[in-house]
Amino acid sequence: MSTPLPILQPTRIFTGKDYRDVLRHELDGGKIPISLGKGCPVQCEFCYETDHSYRETLEPPKTTQEDWAFILEYINQKPTDPEQFWCLGGNEYMEWTDLFLHPKAMEWVEDFLKYTDKNLTFFTVGFVHVPKIHQLAAQYPGRINFELSVITLGSYRQRLMPHAPAVKHVMKVLDGPAVSSANFYCFDSQTMSKDAVAIAAVNRTCVLWMGCLTPVRGIKKESADLMLGGRRYLPEEARRIYDAGLPNMTTIHTEAYITAFMNRRKIVSQFDALELGKKDTVVTARSVHKILTLYRKGRAKFLHVPNATLGGDSDCTVLLTFDDIARRLTDEKVVHIPKCVMQSGRGAYRDIAGVSLEEFMRKTKVKVKVLHKLDTGFANRQLYRNGFLKNYVEDYLRHPLTQAYEALPVPA
Ligand code: SF4
Repeated sequence: MSTPLPILQPTRIFTGKDYRDVLRHELDGGKIPISLGKGCPVQCEFCYETDHSYRETLEPPKTTQEDWAFILEYINQKPTDPEQFWCLGGNEYMEWTDLFLHPKAMEWVEDFLKYTDKNLTFFTVGFVHVPKIHQLAAQYPGRINFELSVITLGSYRQRLMPHAPAVKHVMKVLDGPAVSSANFYCFDSQTMSKDAVAIAAVNRTCVLWMGCLTPVRGIKKESADLMLGGRRYLPEEARRIYDAGLPNMTTIHTEAYITAFMNRRKIVSQFDALELGKKDTVVTARSVHKILTLYRKGRAKFLHVPNATLGGDSDCTVLLTFDDIARRLTDEKVVHIPKCVMQSGRGAYRDIAGVSLEEFMRKTKVKVKVLHKLDTGFANRQLYRNGFLKNYVEDYLRHPLTQAYEALPVPA
């Protein structure tokens, strides 16, 4: 699919800047900006960074020991918040890569734990040194949150992530105290459920983080079809895991329409509390639109805005952009937009592409009333509140309205 030209473009911030500025931007956002100096060699078929052209990034050269000394000193100047976990991976101004492919990554993780009093969170598909990562987890209890991207252990692994570590290695990473949560997904019958049982057999304490992968723009059609195909099997796979009674905490997150249904009362009560009139226009992504149309039809104008910037099958209000909203405007003079749209890592009142609220209003000539209570804190609370597999099976799959809800047409 070709990329639509943006109507609203953010002001570029790195033109003519030194790469250390990128490092500082990341560090100020709580990220540890190690760079491989190249794109991610793992080349997973499902990678959300396949097309990250919507946001400006700048690739610093491969991180040197001197850069690392700069990073560590910068981190040490920041006050310690016991609730904060500094994040290795998931950069905002740099392309995402598996940072454990940097030959110094393990050594620098140890430096971080030794020379700072701060906590660390990281993601990897498993490129960690096995005895070392378990030793560090045991030596620094509570300071490491290790999210292992297992994705799948079965036959689809080779097709989706041919350059990732072998299953044998991943199982060794799981076997010990290091991994806090393992994420893996449903692609077919006996995929997610088999993985859950296999992982629980070697690690009874890590969180099992499951669901379906959502294709975004740039992902090949065959891979997107495989990701979407997993949805058909999600109910039966979830029931198998439920019946298996695994000791681990089990969560299911990635299905927006399910999350919206399970939080329908909260969504409706929050909408009521806004006290909007019939003529007011409220911006919503697909699933929230469906809930509000079902329970509060005619109480306001619900402007369904597709996640056109991220494309694929995205369905998330937090990840809407001002450009997405601008494309849906017709004759509105005023629109109500949830605050979560403009709380991205790009700064206050900016969307995930970096476009500001002020730029949106100036270019579209549409006035915006920000719905402050609908912020990312609210969105995250709803995501986690009912995010357990138990909730999905008991409150969604067994709910008498589920089939009728799923059959409702999605907004155009
Ligand atoms: S390892 Fe992570 S960053 Fe690299 S291609 Fe795979 S999903 Fe993308």
